[in-house]
Amino acid sequence: MLTSRIVAGIIPAQVLQYTQDYTAQHLLTDSRKMLHPASSVFFAIKGAFHNGHTYVPVLYAKGVRQFILEDVLYIPEVKSVADLNILFPEANFWQVESSLRALQQLAAYHRSRFSLPVFAITGSNGKTIVKEWLAQLLSPDELVCKSPRSYNSQIGVPLSVWQLNEHHTLGIFEAGISKPAEMEYLRPIIKPTYGIFTNIGSAHNQGFASRQQKIAEKLKLFTEVELLFYCQDHTSIHEAVQAQGLPAFTWSRSQPANLQIISCRVAGGQANITFRFAGEEQGLLLPYADEASIENMMHCLAVLLWRGLPIDEIQHRLNKLLPVAMRLEMKEAINNCYLIDDTYNNDLAGLGIALDLLLHQPRQGKKTLILSDVLQSGLSDEILYRQVADVVKSKKIDRLIGIGATISRHQDKFEQESQFYTDTDEFLNDFKPDNFRNETILVKGARIFQFEQIVAVFQRKVHGTVLEVNLDALVHNLNYYRAKLQPATKIMVMVKAFAYGSGSYEIANILQFHRVDYLAVAYTDEGVHLRENGISLPIMVMNPSPDSFAKIQQYHLEPEIYSLEILQACLAATQNKSQPLNIHIKLDTGMHRLGFTPEDLATVAQILKAAPQLRVVSTFSHLAGADEALHNSFSQEQVKQFREMAAQLEAGLGYPVLKHILNSAGIVRFPEHQLNMVRLGIGLYGVEATGQEQEGLRTVGTLKTTVSQVKEVPAGETVGYSRRGVAATPKKIATIAIGYADGYDRRFGNGVGQVWVNGQLAPIIGNICMDMCMVDVTGLSVHVGDAVEIFGEHRNITQLAQTIGTIPYELLTNVSARVKRIFFAA
Ligand SMILES: *Cc1c(COP(=O)(O)O)cnc(C)c1O
Repeated sequence: MLTSRIVAGIIPAQVLQYTQDYTAQHLLTDSRKMLHPASSVFFAIKGAFHNGHTYVPVLYAKGVRQFILEDVLYIPEVKSVADLNILFPEANFWQVESSLRALQQLAAYHRSRFSLPVFAITGSNGKTIVKEWLAQLLSPDELVCKSPRSYNSQIGVPLSVWQLNEHHTLGIFEAGISKPAEMEYLRPIIKPTYGIFTNIGSAHNQGFASRQQKIAEKLKLFTEVELLFYCQDHTSIHEAVQAQGLPAFTWSRSQPANLQIISCRVAGGQANITFRFAGEEQGLLLPYADEASIENMMHCLAVLLWRGLPIDEIQHRLNKLLPVAMRLEMKEAINNCYLIDDTYNNDLAGLGIALDLLLHQPRQGKKTLILSDVLQSGLSDEILYRQVADVVKSKKIDRLIGIGATISRHQDKFEQESQFYTDTDEFLNDFKPDNFRNETILVKGARIFQFEQIVAVFQRKVHGTVLEVNLDALVHNLNYYRAKLQPATKIMVMVKAFAYGSGSYEIANILQFHRVDYLAVAYTDEGVHLRENGISLPIMVMNPSPDSFAKIQQYHLEPEIYSLEILQACLAATQNKSQPLNIHIKLDTGMHRLGFTPEDLATVAQILKAAPQLRVVSTFSHLAGADEALHNSFSQEQVKQFREMAAQLEAGLGYPVLKHILNSAGIVRFPEHQLNMVRLGIGLYGVEATGQEQEGLRTVGTLKTTVSQVKEVPAGETVGYSRRGVAATPKKIATIAIGYADGYDRRFGNGVGQVWVNGQLAPIIGNICMDMCMVDVTGLSVHVGDAVEIFGEHRNITQLAQTIGTIPYELLTNVSARVKRIFFAA
């Protein structure tokens, strides 16, 4: 048995020695992803939003014994070193200056033990796709170790490289940076033999002084490579590479280069290229035709040609090149099931990530995994499937459906309820919808198993209209606002009205995972719904009805108390309860909606003082005009009054409470008034209400529908109800599957609204009907089944709202319940 000890100032060799002694094989940076406590080392990293030291006690309780941290006194409840032996008698603590740097040093040390060739990929776009494609294209010859998904950060890179083992023959890792100096830490971890610089975006990047600086910083990844692949048409990259004299393999669309494209003809979704390489002219058919895909494929082609692959073999491999799904989708399915569609690829690292997501779904009901053979692990089947069985068990999967000859052979390793099939067809032939009910199902398969067929049978027939919700964008926005907060400021997120139309528990769940402090809903039933779906965060209810206090207590919700009447109702309902109820006191400072006025305060404090069963957690007020600069002095006045009233209330209560007043716009406009907490609303969903910092946010919701019919309408005819759409000339009309019952406002009718279809804008013609409307697509290429965007990525919702004299809040919350929400991460 170990005794608790502190080892100061580690060096990687020492840690590595130690990781061998104690078979510590797993590097853990996120307490939620713990899988193998006994063989994990936890790195307590202090990030912008979390302090890893906080999770040491929880992890210790779960069996983790090895901790790398910055100061043992950061651990909750540790007041002195002597406490360690009492609280954590079996733990080892390695105290270092920076846990992140220690993680990186350890990964670099691990890397230095292997002499295989390694590709490093950086650039503004396409890193993940180039990595995945290059791995696909080289996999007939090599056993590739690569970053899982887009693990390219200061933490992601070391975790990726840590996967290297003696069976691998090639490494492909991506690296991304967001500010200067970061690349210098990543280079020794990847220690690339070859580099690929995909491209450089023109967008001004917050972390860098200029585009030149961004290029120079990224190039630091490649200072020691034997060869750097890039497109020399990116002039600024080319100049920087030449200035540094790095050995290069270049390709170009327009100038002499190692690989020069002479012509490129795009037709039928393919690109027919001729090119000159090594003095010879040759041709290839690339299986994708969009600009970005062509660029990504050219980087790969450069590598294949340089490696000396014969042209017919290259064509053969290109033909099999599969699209890289960048998103992991969650979809509603038959019998109240929920599907996580991850038919992206199936390696061990990816399996862990997807299972994590499944584990963190708070829905009640079974968790089922449909899993194909796991490919490209470099391990023997025996060891591999033992590891797979371990992961599946530790992630608390209730039922496993294994598909594939190899996984079937190893079925005795799996302990949970399970069925096995040798291939996808056998499963589909045996498929009975009744066998699946109220479950969350992860569908995870290597591409050759074609699990999209399985997804299709599970997917309920959906009405053509969907609201796609990008959860990664949501988290980006959350972090954008968090970055503005003082370290001690808490964050409450408003998930009222179905999370501004975006979903309900799905959004709450992501927020819970990302550890916001509080949620707020408008009505009690919204809070009950979240609780019933496994949300355990504290939830404030802003408008509790007097008859809902029993439910409030039953579900541990926390009411907003805004008037003496509601306070009395709350008192009456809690009179004989021993369990105290947390409440929040709303103050009216000028919004004149809900809240106590200054005159009420003395009475409120008096009543509360005599009611120990009510515990005031916070007091707050709401700004009436934070979004407009015009109202700045009014807002300042509100804050001033709030501070005074809150102080008076606290004095009356005799104990301190949290104070908060800023909504999304307030966070941007009045950083000096964050107080103890802020309340984030619309900003999370991608709309920056002041309009000053919209570029900092990402679009979360995209409302899409499909074309049901396309027809030619002769001149002189009319379109739709009341004959309002007049075809003065012959027109091509597309009927799309969205109407006012879906939340598409009638005011968008008759040319006011425009939808985005196949890259072009098309105006609404005629009145909008209940379930459909018509679009003028004269002269455009539009076909039945084409996707149509109402708002989202290409149609800015704020501008759209302005055209009908409303605000984005209304458009978001109007999307009706019958529109399916599809959640994805990208
Ligand atoms: C809705 C709401 C918010 C959030 O407002 P946004 O403008 O969406 O940021 C904050 N506080 C209260 C009391 C609210 O009702």
